[in-house]
Amino acid sequence: MNEQSQNTGKKANIHAPWRIEYINMLNDRRDGCFICRARDETDRDAENLLLWRTENCLVMMNRFPYSAGHLLIAPNEHVGGMEEMPDNVLLEMMALSRDTQRLLAHSIRAEGFNIGMNIGRCAGAGLPGHLHMHVVPRWSGDTNYMAVIGDVRVVSQALTELYEQLREASAELNLPRA
Ligand SMILES: [Zn+2]
Repeated sequence: MNEQSQNTGKKANIHAPWRIEYINMLNDRRDGCFICRARDETDRDAENLLLWRTENCLVMMNRFPYSAGHLLIAPNEHVGGMEEMPDNVLLEMMALSRDTQRLLAHSIRAEGFNIGMNIGRCAGAGLPGHLHMHVVPRWSGDTNYMAVIGDVRVVSQALTELYEQLREASAELNLPRA
């Protein structure tokens, strides 16, 4: 996801200081899976930032985003690799990547996207046991407001507001179509 490098050559998350919370969460919940938890907590979609449930998949906002509107598309089933997934579920994920692009273009005027998967911890997967596709919206010049916010509470508030905005836009667009 376009990790920024400084002159030191070290990988640095200088634009996303709240991600330390994410690292702490992973350490705290080594045995847990936040995707399965969100899937199972059917009465807590807003708290879990879960946007869509489809037949075989779910779409949620990344609580530790690289940019505003950073979404995750995951199969309902806790599987770590694509080889374990049937064709119809893979197709559904691709359809959802199409639908999320439409949602983000409409609701927050995203102009481009980075879409991808990190498979395996060595490839950067924070949650290697549960496959998920990242959809990261981009703008010309990336005037991305979250880049200048370092306060976790502010980010949290921004996420809640954006969640409501994306839910409303989803209804307007009659999405998802998967
Ligand atoms: Zn899982």
